[in-house]
Amino acid sequence: MKIKYTKIFINNEFVDGVNKKFFPTLNPATGEKIIDISEGEKEDIDLAVQAAKQAFSRNSEWRRLSASQRGSLINKLADLIDQNKEELARLESLDNGKPFNDALTQDIPGSVKFLRYFAGLCDKVHGRTLPVDGDFLSFTKKEPVGVVGQIIPWNYPLMMVTWKWGPALAAGCTIVLKPAEQTPLTALYAAALAKEAGFPKGVINVVPGYGPTAGAPLALHNDVDKIAFTGSTEIGKKMLSYSAQSNMKKISLELGGKSPLVVFDDVDVNEAVKIAHGAIFSNHGQNCCAGSRTFVQSKIYDEFVKKATEVAKGRKVGNPFEDGVQQGPQVDQPSVDKIMDLVNSGMKEGAQLETGGKRIGDAGYFVEPTVFSNVKDHMRIAKEEIFGPVQSILKFETMEEVIQRANDTTYGLAAGVITNDINRALEFSQAVRAGTVWVNTYNVVQCQTPFGGFKMSGLGREL
Ligand code: NAD
Repeated sequence: MKIKYTKIFINNEFVDGVNKKFFPTLNPATGEKIIDISEGEKEDIDLAVQAAKQAFSRNSEWRRLSASQRGSLINKLADLIDQNKEELARLESLDNGKPFNDALTQDIPGSVKFLRYFAGLCDKVHGRTLPVDGDFLSFTKKEPVGVVGQIIPWNYPLMMVTWKWGPALAAGCTIVLKPAEQTPLTALYAAALAKEAGFPKGVINVVPGYGPTAGAPLALHNDVDKIAFTGSTEIGKKMLSYSAQSNMKKISLELGGKSPLVVFDDVDVNEAVKIAHGAIFSNHGQNCCAGSRTFVQSKIYDEFVKKATEVAKGRKVGNPFEDGVQQGPQVDQPSVDKIMDLVNSGMKEGAQLETGGKRIGDAGYFVEPTVFSNVKDHMRIAKEEIFGPVQSILKFETMEEVIQRANDTTYGLAAGVITNDINRALEFSQAVRAGTVWVNTYNVVQCQTPFGGFKMSGLGREL
């Protein structure tokens, strides 16, 4: 397919990088180059931040828009994404490897919904009046933070753009976004649509590039008022340090997880297996909320393992553009290396490999849907984020035990519980230290619901 947008987007123009450098974005289904992308570095970040600062200045076109006019622009952008959904879904699938049908029916419509929610929020950002002592009138007024730097990962490329743009634009901020180096295509396409929608120049800027050479200068910039980051906990820590080293900019972080999904023995095992399968295998396991520790109560453990293995064996892996394919390639080679290292560690540490465990072929980054049983808490596959199609099934006996084990992690993004007993559902939900808890479902993320983690899964809430 023809790729229209490959350059840095500053002040509503697509431009080459100051240093005239390029980097390839690869097709994870083949490992081959799709196209070269203009590489942004510190000099380009400086220009983009300058543009965003100018667009935010007093009496600028953007600052003079009313809140409802900002809402109209965001809605227009949502319309344009919707009108171009086929092409955006193809780009997403090509660049990220997720099944085209998933991109078309989930990622793109989801992105449109998120934008529309924030479009509607623009003119509903209220302050308060405060009954203070004496002859005084006191009120609060919500103000935009200013220039917002946004650094995002590759697992939901366009969706992450809209999660970051929606609230920042609704509040009246201006933006410099750095997409992940693996998946720049849909962010650049969205930038072109933002221009078409009529956003004034400098309000939205997109600088593709690498973390240390484009992300770090953005996070260290003294004219950036906030960084909104989604990615790994390791780089999230760096964001706090970049802030401290520069201007104490505000930081919000959406980071990793090792989320527990607890299955009690009063359930329909087939139904529980289905929920747990979706919890870990959706988006090839490349999901920060992935239910990556499946705790199953002892009475139904063996039956659950047998059925979960059958379902994983039936998962269709292949070309993301082929009908019926449920799992495409992982995003890149380092990702496959990390997954294989953890799978091998699982076998060495004594977990039982029920199915999978291997890379598929050597073209592209495909990994077999993998299930481990007899997983123990101390094993790496029970502690580290794998970010791949690997289900670890652990056995438990009692509520108290599973609460303690579920919480024995540095993360706290999400959790799930499957039971027909309301007392069990409520007791576990309130005891588990996680930002979101799903009951008898998993991975339901909606714009009306806050999203974010306890502990080292993040700071602040999105949506
Ligand atoms: P990553 O942290 O390496 O990269 C994320 C982004 O940060 C990319 O744009 C990257 O270029 C940039 N970056 C890397 N080093 C940087 C640096 N030194 N300075 C500034 N920017 C830098 O993560 P990844 O491997 O791309 O993504 C996977 C991770 O993201 C997983 O750990 C996953 O859990 C997490 N994640 C979390 C959420 C969430 O909402 N909590 C969502 C998606 C992914």
